[in-house]
Amino acid sequence: MGDAEAQAVANTIHSGWVAQGPRVSEFEKKFAEYIGVNEAIAVSSCTAGLHLALHVHGIGPGDEVIVPSFSFIATTNSVIYTGASPVFADVDEVTGNLDVPELDRVLGPQTKAVMVVHQAGVPAELNQIRAWCKARDLLLIEDAACAIGSRYESSLIGSDSHLAVFSFHPRKLLTTGEGGMMVTDSSEIATRLRQLREHGMSVSAADRHASGGTTVEAYLETGFNYRMTDMQAAVGLVQLEKIDRIVRRRRELAETYHRLLDDLDAVRAVTDPTCGATNYQSFWVELQDDMVDRGHVMSFMAERGISTRRGIMAAHLESACSQFASKPLPVTEHLTRRTMILPLYHQMTSDDQVHVIQALSDALTEQLWPKS
Ligand SMILES: *Cc1c(COP(=O)(O)O)cnc(C)c1O
Repeated sequence: MGDAEAQAVANTIHSGWVAQGPRVSEFEKKFAEYIGVNEAIAVSSCTAGLHLALHVHGIGPGDEVIVPSFSFIATTNSVIYTGASPVFADVDEVTGNLDVPELDRVLGPQTKAVMVVHQAGVPAELNQIRAWCKARDLLLIEDAACAIGSRYESSLIGSDSHLAVFSFHPRKLLTTGEGGMMVTDSSEIATRLRQLREHGMSVSAADRHASGGTTVEAYLETGFNYRMTDMQAAVGLVQLEKIDRIVRRRRELAETYHRLLDDLDAVRAVTDPTCGATNYQSFWVELQDDMVDRGHVMSFMAERGISTRRGIMAAHLESACSQFASKPLPVTEHLTRRTMILPLYHQMTSDDQVHVIQALSDALTEQLWPKS
């Protein structure tokens, strides 16, 4: 974020309208245009949006929703909020995403929906998963938290979705501090989502004030307070202008990493899947040699001033999920133990990247061929 975002927030404060209002509407309109969908509905977070996506379709107690365990825990939590049970599926070893053979393995009589995640920005095999869900009359929700600007074939993620939800947490490529956006082509669902995010009100507070009259709202069903503020939307509008540039820059940096990693045999890096293009929200690598201790590699690199992160978590291993039985998930458990995330930011230079890969290489050498 820069001065333009700060100025946009200041302007919003001076406008006298800070809660969900005209800037949220404008952000929704511009976001829908960017993705190429009819409707975009802003919410307070992607987690809130995922919850609403299930709730609006009546998912609740007694239902099961298939989710990848290999994801940030919010994916699973959104299912738990509805009273339904998450059913954990394993993922493809190369992409880290759900695939059809896994869905077949975990499908059960109570399965009502699938929540597919475009993990770390890598697009999932949507055509196959959509066809599989359609044949079984199952709802498909896309957790596109990480996937703004990623493409399935040549289309932006979200453009052909029944319902996809993006995150604007600072960890993601476009940020509003906190926030999320749901996209859909159904205006019927969009109308209901707009009511549900605002206490189930028939008329939004912004419209009520704008009418200048004495419109009285009705409460049609039990809703939630999942609104985005106009201050956040003002930031989002500025950020949206930059998104193509951000994605292009990240793909350039990833290409440099791939070139530098060519010589490191024991390291496999995330890359574009055959079905599309990732935005490289996170550049993760798998340490393929079992002799290498990931913790040691991370501390070795930290000593050289390079901050890394453990790879993507596995929800089924956390105590928060212990009441939900899980089939064995060998790929998830392997990836969560053996992957780590390298630094990737727009201002990074090729020298920075050489420095990172040199440190990684030295860390591996030290462990595999220790000087006696
Ligand atoms: C970040 C993230 C979320 C949560 O997004 P919030 O906007 O922070 O609620 C959900 N799913 C995945 C895969 C994420 O990476």
